[in-house]
Amino acid sequence: MSNGSTGPNQAAPGPHHDPDANPDPAAGGSGATVERTVIENCAIATVDAAGTEYATGHVVVAGQVIEAVGAGPAPAGLRNVVRRVDAAGHLATPGLVNTHHHFYQWITRGLAQNSGLFDWLVELYPVWARIDEPMVHAAASGSLAMMARGGVTTAMDHHYVFPRGAGDLLGAEIRAAAELGVRFTAARGSMDRGRSEGGLPPDFAVESTEEALRATESAIDTHHDASFGSMLHIAAAPCSPFSVSTELLREAAVLARRKGVRLHTHGSETVEEEKFCRELFGMGPTAYFETTGWLGEDVWMAHCVHMDDADIAAFARTGTGVAHCPSSNARLAAGIARVPDMLAAGVPVGLGVDGTASNEAGELHTELRNALLVNRLRGGPAALDARQALRLATLGGARVLGRAAETGSLEPGKLADLVLWKLDGLGHASIADPVAALVLGPAAPVTLSLVGGRPVVESGRLTGVDEDAVARATREQARRLARIAGID
Ligand code: ZN
Repeated sequence: MSNGSTGPNQAAPGPHHDPDANPDPAAGGSGATVERTVIENCAIATVDAAGTEYATGHVVVAGQVIEAVGAGPAPAGLRNVVRRVDAAGHLATPGLVNTHHHFYQWITRGLAQNSGLFDWLVELYPVWARIDEPMVHAAASGSLAMMARGGVTTAMDHHYVFPRGAGDLLGAEIRAAAELGVRFTAARGSMDRGRSEGGLPPDFAVESTEEALRATESAIDTHHDASFGSMLHIAAAPCSPFSVSTELLREAAVLARRKGVRLHTHGSETVEEEKFCRELFGMGPTAYFETTGWLGEDVWMAHCVHMDDADIAAFARTGTGVAHCPSSNARLAAGIARVPDMLAAGVPVGLGVDGTASNEAGELHTELRNALLVNRLRGGPAALDARQALRLATLGGARVLGRAAETGSLEPGKLADLVLWKLDGLGHASIADPVAALVLGPAAPVTLSLVGGRPVVESGRLTGVDEDAVARATREQARRLARIAGID
């Protein structure tokens, strides 16, 4: 990974160890010098509480944090500036935050193309049951590379398929995220309700309740880092009401609260899930989650498509978050989540790619546009605007992942997770409003993306991995899986 002090865009570098440099504000007054990056001459959408924007402005990055954001050029007299970026023709935004994904699906894209959720799952479970560590590492690298290239600086993954003897699958994902250099929430998923227990997955694809809880606790103890600027959080994440026992849901909530980590699952995704819950538990998914301890400000759920007014009120009352996944919901014809109603009620909402077996594109920046479009199909032209879509993908996502104090907006003191979108090319140059160009226009190229001040995309290329090598590895592992699973 680049150390941030070199690169093709660098101009007029200052000294690396200026004896007059200011002390690092992030180093607790230890007196250590801090290297500054100055970005100037670009439009800026801060996504702060007031929605402050600058037609032409600057961002000063000091170490891993943002030191200043404002209109016009950066203040004169800054010490220890190691890099100065002339960002003319660009829009600076906070880095995008993805709130729901299944990385391993990168190597099972394009299957069950015309199915709804339950049929799609039944076709894919036997394939997924054959994954192993090299496959998951390649798939995670592919998923992460695709997202990082498109402006994601905080990724998350919900991994819930753990075949016996498959190796350290969570470790493979964590390694891939570290190689890319993105901030990461790894949600240790689980399934323990096989078909013989009334669940949807085949029995060979599930773990025992005890195994799932033990492995989740071990993942937290081994990997979770709660410090400011942490690159890795762990969440506890039983998969869904139709693949998980009531006991596992209850016990996972107790475990997560004992350890101080967040809780994640799928909820209210389809009509079939609603029917399953009513038949098995005598209530809808939201009421069922409430009885198992699964509503709260430390919980976020993917989809939340089939929610009535009382369900939305329960999410708002408890601060339960939502990962809105418009492309996946459309691909599986699940329906359209009531995002405008959720926002009006005060529910925290972020955006999610979802697994790439139900969203083959695997990009978050195109989900801003899709969120706006599908919500207008349901709620009319005022349902969601471009700035609300950008907010969902940044500060909304950070809030859903419990990181709004650290990332999700460009404000002094927050982590320098930011993206420069190139908007002066063919696809965008004729749109005057840069936020509209980003959200409504074609996928905008990312020139520079910083995570904690460190470049993960530089001149449009990933700094941490060789993109072509990742592509080759994903093709190789997809073919290996197809062969082993007997679908090639
Ligand atoms: Zn999902």
